[in-house]
Parts: sequence; structure tokens; C-alpha cells
Amino acid sequence: MAFPACYFTPFDPFRAFLPIRHCLVLALSLVLFSCKKDVPTKQNYRTAEHLLLGNPSNATANTNARANYLVEREPYALAYNADKGIANWVSWHLDATWLGTAERQDNFRPDEALPMGWYRATPSHYTNSGFDRGHLCPSGDRTGSQSDNQATFFMTNIIPQASDNNQGPWQELEAYCRTLVEQGNELYIIAGGLGEGGTGKNGLANALADGKIQVPAFTWKVILVLESGENDLSRINTSTRLITVLMPNRQGVRQKSWGTYRISGDELEMKTQYDFISNVPAAVQATIESKVDEINVQ
Ligand code: MN
Ligand code: MN
Repeated sequence: MAFPACYFTPFDPFRAFLPIRHCLVLALSLVLFSCKKDVPTKQNYRTAEHLLLGNPSNATANTNARANYLVEREPYALAYNADKGIANWVSWHLDATWLGTAERQDNFRPDEALPMGWYRATPSHYTNSGFDRGHLCPSGDRTGSQSDNQATFFMTNIIPQASDNNQGPWQELEAYCRTLVEQGNELYIIAGGLGEGGTGKNGLANALADGKIQVPAFTWKVILVLESGENDLSRINTSTRLITVLMPNRQGVRQKSWGTYRISGDELEMKTQYDFISNVPAAVQATIESKVDEINVQ
């Protein structure tokens, strides 16, 4: 009686590799399972944080939107205005997870995310201009990792800022925001420049780089303050604190308290023609945007 030949095969590749095949299937399942767990990815989630409360000028990542071009990256979102050579606004979420021990990277550089052929500011355009390379999203708000910090040095996050504004009340307000976070809050912040013509160390200027970079007449910031927690949008109500400031972009203000520059959200919306925190229910927006923050800050 003859047995099928295979029974006598001393080495059956199919059977011999069966345990390995099982291992491969198991490994593949683990990979797939862990991928599924990561949707949405951490990076997507962090990018989405910054526009949770709204997109103030309805900026889009469409190359036709030259004056309102949306750039979303992990540490912040911004609307670039190619006609002004600076951002209309930068928006970012600030909570304790963004603060760490990364050092200031100081690597100012052109923003490679801008469409080909668009003007890109370079750090040297500010040299000897009489204006600081002023951050909208501060370096100090992005110390969780080296790459987060480096992203704040793209020139699209920079405006020509009078040093007395930048190193005076503007910097005081940046520090105050981080103090609020240390005290257990999380913030939604939007910042930008308004108008044309600032006064730096060399006097009044409307623009740098042969007219390619507009010098704003004012700097502004909107800060929504929440106790740290989850489901942020749903926790905003008529008693939520909203801080709005508008500061002149000129020398001579270094000793001023940032608190003296507070205005209502409504006033800034009127002046900028942006709609801040537009994802907040209209009635709540109306109430908190009508007030001027009055909490004693000095
Ligand atoms: Mn600064
Ligand atoms: Mn609004």
C-alpha cells in the first residue's frame, strides 16, 4: 500500500512555515489594531485644536485666496496675506501640554508652506529696519518639543513690531497668558496686526522690503480663558472670560501695562472685520464680546 508521497516528504515548506505565517498574521493584526486606535492621529488632533472656536476670516488653503490663505500646522493655524507679506491672524490653543523645556530655536526662516511664486519674507528683510521680528504665536508658548518651537520661527508668524510694544506690554501679556495656564486654565488665542504704519527705532514706516512687508499700525490679541477640561466648545458660556487688546505698534509704550489696552471683542471685530469665536453660539458670543475685560491684572 502506497502512502501519498507527501507523507514521506522530509521537509514540507507549507507546514514548516506555518508557525511563521501565524506570527505574521498576528503581527499584521497588531499593526492594524494599533493604527485603528490612532485615528484621528495625534497630529491631526493637534492641528484641529487651533480653529476649534472658528476661522476668523474664513481663510482657505486655496491658491486663489492670495489675501486670506490658510496654513495649518501642528502648533498653530494662520491666514497669510500675500498682498501684505504678513499673516492676517495666527490662532493657537494653549494648555499645559504645549509647555515644556524645549529651548528657543531662533531659526527664523521663510515659510516653505506658501504656494510657489508667492513672496516669502526672509529674516534679513528686517535687519536694520528699526523693527523687531515680532512673533504672533510666541516662541514661549511652544516649548513642548523642538519642532513645535521651530515652527514659531517661520516668517509667516512674524510681523514688524516696534520693540517697545514687543518687549513691553505685548510681552507682558504673553507672560500673563502662560501664568493663567500655570494656574489651571487653557486658552484659545488669536493675534494679528491692524492698519498700516508703525513707528520703530528709525521712525515711521509703512512697509519693509521695498513695500513687500506691511508694518501694522496696531497689534491685537483675543484670548478666551477656560478652566482646563474636556469638550471646550460646549463649556463656553456668558460668563466665560474673553480678553481683547489693541496696542499701538510704536516706540514709547514699553512701560505701559497691557491691561490699559483692553477693548471689547465687538470693537475689535468692527475694526478688523473678522468674526472671532464664530463657532460659539451667537447669543453667548454677543454677551462675552460686548464686555471689556476688567479683572485687575497689575
Ligand atoms: Mn515677541
Ligand atoms: Mn464673534
